[in-house]
Formats: sequence, structure tokens, C-alpha cells
Amino acid sequence: MQRTVSKLSSAVSQRKNQASSLFWRSFSHSSSRNAFGIAFDIDGVLIRGNSPIGGSPQALNKLYHPEGSLKVPYCFLTNGGGVRESKRAIELSKLFGVGVSSSQVLHGHSPFKQLAHKFENDFVVAVGKGEPAAVMSEYGFKDVISIDDYTLCFDNIDPLAPQKKWTVNGSSEPSPELKKYVRSQKVQAVFVVSDSVDWSRDIQVLCDILRTGGLPGGEIGSQPPLYFAHDDLKYQGAFPTERFGIGAFRISLQSVFNSIHPHPLQYSAVGKPNPLAFKNAETTLRKLYNHMIANQDCGGISPFETLYMIGDNPSVDIKGAQEAGRPWFSILTRTGVFRGKENDQEYPADMVVDTVEDAVDFILDKENSS
Ligand SMILES: [Mg+2]
Repeated sequence: MQRTVSKLSSAVSQRKNQASSLFWRSFSHSSSRNAFGIAFDIDGVLIRGNSPIGGSPQALNKLYHPEGSLKVPYCFLTNGGGVRESKRAIELSKLFGVGVSSSQVLHGHSPFKQLAHKFENDFVVAVGKGEPAAVMSEYGFKDVISIDDYTLCFDNIDPLAPQKKWTVNGSSEPSPELKKYVRSQKVQAVFVVSDSVDWSRDIQVLCDILRTGGLPGGEIGSQPPLYFAHDDLKYQGAFPTERFGIGAFRISLQSVFNSIHPHPLQYSAVGKPNPLAFKNAETTLRKLYNHMIANQDCGGISPFETLYMIGDNPSVDIKGAQEAGRPWFSILTRTGVFRGKENDQEYPADMVVDTVEDAVDFILDKENSS
């Protein structure tokens, strides 16, 4: 597989260089043909760990013209994240040997961008692996701090810190000015952008923030808003069986919080299966499609006849596509969370295939013959 990927990467490296200029240029479908688009889940469909699976590089290459321009509007609709969409687009381009634009990348936390106007100048905390504060800054949040840096501003807030032998990437002892500022500001909202790296510290510090109305060490107050990028209990990583996701962290935080606060934890999760995530994907695909059509001078807006969601997790990808309704059509692969022979019992997909390449072949056959 590695050899195939390398060969493929080499073959398309030329077109990658051309991709940015050619990205919008050409679209093979005439406006008389039914419009369609594809949303791909990533983990368990296109990759496991950091390795491509299910013929994913070949599958994605089928969505481009030979010279590297996009033939079919598609996006990545993943609950993963923790990095900026622009950075992820570069990683995905290298991994699959195709030219991916940042506008094609929709993370679980991407809908937070729509909350930027509400909290634009408010002091907010961003939680999770990667670069959660940089993600939120790029969305337009002007006063955001990562939980790593936030925690360092309070002496002894994590009593287990002396037992922890690891170092936190990019964090250093905060300046006295920053400490003074952070200790005087009430946190107005908390955003869990990606997986918590240190559950014991984050549950402690988030309970401190949420139970006091935003300032650790104080009396009980009303809870500031809490947003999760998604609520997936589990996901398919590199290990043979599923790993715990943000949903498992949420359950733990909620259980502790509800034991120490008179009111139950209030929160919302914005990623799949929330229909909002599918609405965003539809908007993204429509913009891609319109650019393609406009640049072909076809004019007009063609509404999608079908939008395909290809995923591996019935309770996230399939449930979400079903709740989003038409024009979504769900395709379940057997390369991740779902491994059954038939269909999922609780959230049956419109179609079940072995791999993502099978799914793309089916879609292209169907659409080209319609
Ligand atoms: Mg998945």
C-alpha cells in the first residue's frame, strides 16, 4: 500500500502544483445533468491512524481531471480536528496526492466559526489536543487561551501536576502580566475543540471554571456556556478496537460536575450527527459547485439531486445523514467502527460497501449513467 501511495503521489505531484490555479477551472458535468456532491468522513473511511485505507488515494483521484482540476464537488466532513482547516488541507493533500483546498475541510469544530461574532471580544478557553487556541483565533475569537496556558496561570490548581513527567507542547511559564490578567477575568465560554489530552487536569479545571461562573477559586455561580466540537463516544484509530472520543470525556465531566453543582451541566455539541454539520457541508459543496459552473459559464444554480455521505460510524455518519434528510444519501463502509455483514440495525444506511473506493465507484457509475 505504501508503495502504491508513493507511486500515486509521485504521479500526481505535478498536478498538485497546478491545483491551486486549476482548482475552480473546469467541471465536466453540464448543468442539464443532475448535480451531486460527496462528503467523506476521514477516520475509519479514508485513514486509520495516519495510513490510507480502503483504496482512498485512488478513490479521491477519481474525482479530479487528469490535469488536476476538480471534477466532482466533494468535502471532508470529519468530527476530528484540533488543527486549523488550512493546515489539515495541506496534510490531506500530501497524504492522498491530490490538491485539497481548506474550504473542503470541515472539522467537528468548524461550526464554532459561526459563534465568533457572539464571543468575539469575550475571554474564552479552548480545550484539546493540537492547537485549539489557534483554531479559535482563525475563526475570529480575539481573546482566547488554551487550557494548557490557562492552567499555568493558577498555582496548585492541578494537585497532580508534580507527578506528571511530560512537557506541554508550546507552553511556557506565563508572564506576571498574563497571570494577573487571567486571574482577574471571568471565562465567558468554554470550547472543547478536540480530544482532551489530560483528563484529570481538564475535568478539575473545567469544573472550577464552570461551577464558579468563570473564575476558579470563587463561590458557586451560574455556568458559562460550554460547547463541544462533537459528542462521539468512540472512533476507529490505529488500535484494532475503537478508542474513546470527546463524548466519553463529556460523560466524565458531566458526571463529576453534576455531583458538585446544584444544576445539571448545560452543553451543546456542534459536529456530526448534528444536522447543522450537514447543512454546513451542503453549503460548502454548493459553493464549490457554483464556482465550477460559473467558471464554465453555465450560469444559474443547480440544486443538488443527491449528496452522498460516506462514513464508518452508524450512530454519527449515518444517523446524521438520515436526520439531515434529502438530498442526503448515506453509504456505510466496513473499514472502521462498523464491521457487520449486512446493515446496521439501529441506523441502517442507504447502502453498505466494503471500502471507500467501492463507494466512489458506485457513485460515479450511477451518476454517469443517469
Ligand atoms: Mg469515522
